[in-house]
Amino acid sequence: MGSLVFNKKNKIPHAVCIPYPAQGHISPMLKLSKLLHSHGFHITFVNTLFNHHRLVASHGPESIKGAASFHFESIPDGLPPLTDSNATQHIPTLSNSIHKTGAAPFRDLLHRLNASPDVPDVTCVISDGVMSFTLDVAEQLGVPEVVFFTTSACGFLGYVYFEELVKRGYVPFKDEGCFTNGYLDTVIDWILGLEGIRLRDLPTFIRTTDPKAIMLNFNIEQLRNASRAKAILLNTFEDLEENVLKAIRSIFGLVLTIGPLQLISKEITTCSTITTKNDHEQVSSIGCSLWREDHECINWLDKREPKSVVYVNFGSITVLTQEQLSEFAWGLANSGHYFLWVIRPDLVSNGTIVLPKEFILGTKERGMLTNWCAQQQVLSHPSLGVFLTHSGWNSTIESIGEGVPMICWPFFAEQQTNCRFVCSDWANGIEIESDVRRDGVERKVREMMKGERGKVLREKALEWREKARVAVKPGGSSYINFNYLINEVLLDNS
Ligand code: UDP
Repeated sequence: MGSLVFNKKNKIPHAVCIPYPAQGHISPMLKLSKLLHSHGFHITFVNTLFNHHRLVASHGPESIKGAASFHFESIPDGLPPLTDSNATQHIPTLSNSIHKTGAAPFRDLLHRLNASPDVPDVTCVISDGVMSFTLDVAEQLGVPEVVFFTTSACGFLGYVYFEELVKRGYVPFKDEGCFTNGYLDTVIDWILGLEGIRLRDLPTFIRTTDPKAIMLNFNIEQLRNASRAKAILLNTFEDLEENVLKAIRSIFGLVLTIGPLQLISKEITTCSTITTKNDHEQVSSIGCSLWREDHECINWLDKREPKSVVYVNFGSITVLTQEQLSEFAWGLANSGHYFLWVIRPDLVSNGTIVLPKEFILGTKERGMLTNWCAQQQVLSHPSLGVFLTHSGWNSTIESIGEGVPMICWPFFAEQQTNCRFVCSDWANGIEIESDVRRDGVERKVREMMKGERGKVLREKALEWREKARVAVKPGGSSYINFNYLINEVLLDNS
């Protein structure tokens, strides 16, 4: 097996890392896995078979080749094959299926790894917090497990209270009227750490009249299980969510903030003596985009003035109606600013992306449209002025780490909670109405790019960037927590 020489007695730590099978979970788990690898861990990264094939289809077999000390495995998600293997899977169906079917193949995999003479024995499992079937398997095998919730701390705390909201009769909603009669504006004044939060700011899976709704019950179950893990990891930093974290820690045991992960990766360089230089080079080039990245947009950004571009990206799951697509398009066109707009092939709900011809012709000189980009690279580009985002947590924390202010258009899950914190507590962004209209888009873009408010919010965004950078530097909270995770949690044999 390549150049790494060891025998089972060498006790090389071996972490099996298993993300929930969606882009916003795979990306941060890969970042964490690479960091652990650079600290001498052997890594097994577990994708679903569906995503495994997608990575190969998008980037070729090399993309999952890994390295001698970092290899990929896959387990089935339990679903029948999709006709379009390049489309985002339906989240409730996927969640349901992997939970019912995931444990057996995961157990087989761990047994197979332990029986293999080519890899060290498994010493820990790092699982996505919403893949709690892995906890049963790890417990059965006597291997410690740490869970990584890829949400913000505020979003996580929202999920923690789902069960209590049900107990107190807020959820499920009484009837369909609750969606329109102001019920969503109800202030919940008893959640410590989320003072002043309204039902509309909490993760959207509470918006149901069905007591059996999959995502409501799925999240309740995941959060119940979280306390079984040896530690809970969050991709955030102490200064950003101090009060929320205090509240979370009053409920759960060890909660370690290790974010922003993309910045900590730059600070914590290799300290491993057991993996080879060749391995490190191979591992650092591993990517996990389920779509092929367009690098041409970076050349386009290079030609723009500093802070002159509106970057628009709704992540990997959001779907728009054709009408919303068109309102965003005209809003961007009418704002008069340069824009880079990432339009995933499956962004529109009926599957076909139709942009008005006049929009395409009229913005030829000012607009760059593409399918998928290397977002981290885009966000750190000096040409960026503002990020029009769906407020997914990865996008939000990546934007915070680069000091880019946001215009938020949250779609679902805890994106509403992230938006609330961006627009109030952190004051580094503004919200756009959910019933999006071109005038609103135009006005908000102008306000952020040239208005007084935009100036204030931009300054705030830069302050957060500095705080994020302090957190990941030696002596900073995330840096300390990351080292604690390795030395006291994952390498501790007691
Ligand atoms: N992403 C990317 N290129 C794109 C769009 C998204 O690399 O064109 C990455 C982005 O950097 C982030 C992840 O995909 O790490 C999306 O996660 P997020 O939590 O923001 O949203 P989700 O896709 O889960 O809704």
